[in-house]
Amino acid sequence: MKPNETLLNTLLFEDDTKIALTDEEIGDDHLNTSVDTPMRADAFEMKDEEKIAQIEYYFRQIMDTLGLDLTDDSLKGTPKRVAKMYVKEIFSGLNPENKPSVTLFDNKYQYNEMLVEKDISFYSNCEHHFVPIFGKAHVAYIANGKVIGLSKLNRIVQYFAKRPQVQERLTMQIAKELQKVLGTEDVAVVMDAKHLCVASRGVQDDTSTTITSFYGGKFQQEATKAEFLKYIA
Ligand SMILES: [Zn+2]
Repeated sequence: MKPNETLLNTLLFEDDTKIALTDEEIGDDHLNTSVDTPMRADAFEMKDEEKIAQIEYYFRQIMDTLGLDLTDDSLKGTPKRVAKMYVKEIFSGLNPENKPSVTLFDNKYQYNEMLVEKDISFYSNCEHHFVPIFGKAHVAYIANGKVIGLSKLNRIVQYFAKRPQVQERLTMQIAKELQKVLGTEDVAVVMDAKHLCVASRGVQDDTSTTITSFYGGKFQQEATKAEFLKYIA
């Protein structure tokens, strides 16, 4: 199908609703919406296997439109490979079924200082360009009677990273989830990441990184924040 001028700048939905986008909305600006990833109510009515089959079909159309020869041995498996990677790996964090289950332990040692898990590697994808965002996350909390298994901190970061994201929302989602599971406001998250939509295209700046932060509860006090920042420096 040839792109039709009336379809450009318009989002079409299966129920025939159309939403027109202004040039600013489809431009290069990284607009921030809400803390929740915008999802349709029926997002999980379709099984993973059906999603993979559909994405395979549409990705084949994209490659075909670009003029690639899909009978070529090297290319013919790509649509299926990309579809599986989207659903089972890099966007698996969209599905709440994949959220890590968290076990808390009693804080038997009465350890009541901050705990910092730093340099957690993460890979995400920019929701405006679908190219990688990757870097390090540093998280901290002050226990409120309960402590969490350390690997769960990494798993919570990975879960929210495996979505189309903007870094600001990713930071907030991790922080809010930690506050919820740990039952405390005293949570801090700092993320330092490289965005390939800035490095490999667009402005093509390969050296800049983006830092986002969240400071809840006691971390809003200057001394506590400074202690955290000293550990991750
Ligand atoms: Zn981007």
